[in-house]
Amino acid sequence: MDLSRYITTKDSSDFVAEERLTVVFASSEVAPFSKTGGLGDVAASLPMALAQRGHNVVIFTPLYGHLDPHKLRLSKRLHSLEVPRKSKAQSKVEATLWEGRLGQGVRIFFVDAEEYFGREGLYGQDGAAFEDNAERFAFFSRAAVEFARSYPLNVDVLHCNDWHTGLAPVYARHYYEEEFANTSVLMTIHNLAFQGTFEGDQFDATGLPKKFADEGELLDDSGKLNYLKGGLLHADRITTVSPGYAKEIQTEEKGMGLHALLQARSEELTGILNGADYNVWSPDVDRHISVQYDVETLNGKRQNKAELQHKNGLPVRPTLPLIGVISRLTEQKGIDVMVPTIRSLLSGLEDERDGFQLFVLGEGESWLHEDLEALAKEFPKRVVFKAGYDEAMAHRVQAGSDILLVPSRFEPCGLTQIYSMRYGTVPVVHSTGGLADTVSDLRDDPDHGTGFVFKELTEDAMAGAIERASAAYRNYRKWRPLMVRAMELDFSWGESAHQYESLYVSLAELQKAAE
Ligand code: ADP
Repeated sequence: MDLSRYITTKDSSDFVAEERLTVVFASSEVAPFSKTGGLGDVAASLPMALAQRGHNVVIFTPLYGHLDPHKLRLSKRLHSLEVPRKSKAQSKVEATLWEGRLGQGVRIFFVDAEEYFGREGLYGQDGAAFEDNAERFAFFSRAAVEFARSYPLNVDVLHCNDWHTGLAPVYARHYYEEEFANTSVLMTIHNLAFQGTFEGDQFDATGLPKKFADEGELLDDSGKLNYLKGGLLHADRITTVSPGYAKEIQTEEKGMGLHALLQARSEELTGILNGADYNVWSPDVDRHISVQYDVETLNGKRQNKAELQHKNGLPVRPTLPLIGVISRLTEQKGIDVMVPTIRSLLSGLEDERDGFQLFVLGEGESWLHEDLEALAKEFPKRVVFKAGYDEAMAHRVQAGSDILLVPSRFEPCGLTQIYSMRYGTVPVVHSTGGLADTVSDLRDDPDHGTGFVFKELTEDAMAGAIERASAAYRNYRKWRPLMVRAMELDFSWGESAHQYESLYVSLAELQKAAE
């Protein structure tokens, strides 16, 4: 894919904010340059939405080995970024900065440090994490802080995302308390399951003084080093990506060992629902699909479905519902419960016009790959499993499926169901976190419901929801309004970007009051 076309030079003129804030948004992933999941999408779309409201948002991210700054037409900054390692006075890494623009008016800086990022893979390769991740992301966190310090304007907010930037609040507050007196530090949890934990003996990678190697600081109960914990302790405010998940992570069951800390900071923890970038994820403008469509031209969706079926060896049957799944293949995603559920539903079918077809696009743990491969082999006319990460294919599955299944055990926000609704692809989801916040069940509310929700993550409950959805699909008189209702929902960033903005402003006011 030619990524250079994502770099633009136009400035946004659509300013609506009363006060123009300067925000450094630090993220280890930014779509379409680097992405393993929802974080990448959000790290591009939220800054663009904030910029559209008139703010000066600057993205800071690593230049990974697969990114060629020349092909991306980035410009090299004259001055390199000096990043102290180990401690303030000791060794420094001289990192090159490359600059581009994303969308309309968002500056994006890539930090180029060969020893940490000049390799294939973001966090690891072939399923194994890189051994020096503690060092790589301590570097990235420190680099984000140094970048914010050296930025020519006063930075109002340093917005950190997930454990990869977990040490940034610690560095900012420990080394530069005075310099950052007018800068608020915000930490967003995109997924609490990933905390950046390392053996305690890797503590030196942080470069921090020994007092941080303590259970009240960066170590967790089992003596492991925990980067996210540091961020959550030292950030001024914490957000996560849906209101439902904000509540869940304060419980022992879903707090992944950090519930007590999050409870203690509950006054400073807010859940703000992620938004969608409808310039990328909308069937009327989607460049990856063969036939673009909207509410008025739903026939286009049928053509996308027929093509998806045909090209992937499924019988082309318009009347059979096609269920799509687009997912990382990990325990979180509930695929282990989905496989036996699908097997028992499909095993009982006698007529090939009954039931449904299933298309799974996913990449992840090998045991789940094996389960899905076996399922596809058992039901070659019913089930397709495409192993791998394929952005264009994700769009085609959204457009070509009738139903999108998201059986996650837990889901901080979930973007695939938000996107699917825009494509008229009706979601079937487990009632958890952001899935519960975004999908309402047709049975509970026949006039406003937008999908099918199952309360428990069990084979029976999931099968029940799939059967209800498949049956509903067969009645087009009722299905069509459901599709249209889902397509007309608005999950664009507007309201959520406004909530981030209000949070930024309230933090800036707090800083001023403290002066
Ligand atoms: P998570 O961040 O936990 O992976 P989300 O639903 O928030 O889950 O975001 C998933 C994002 O990753 C979506 O943009 C989805 O389209 C994309 N995605 C997931 N798996 C794949 C895959 N195998 N190929 C292409 N895109 C994928």
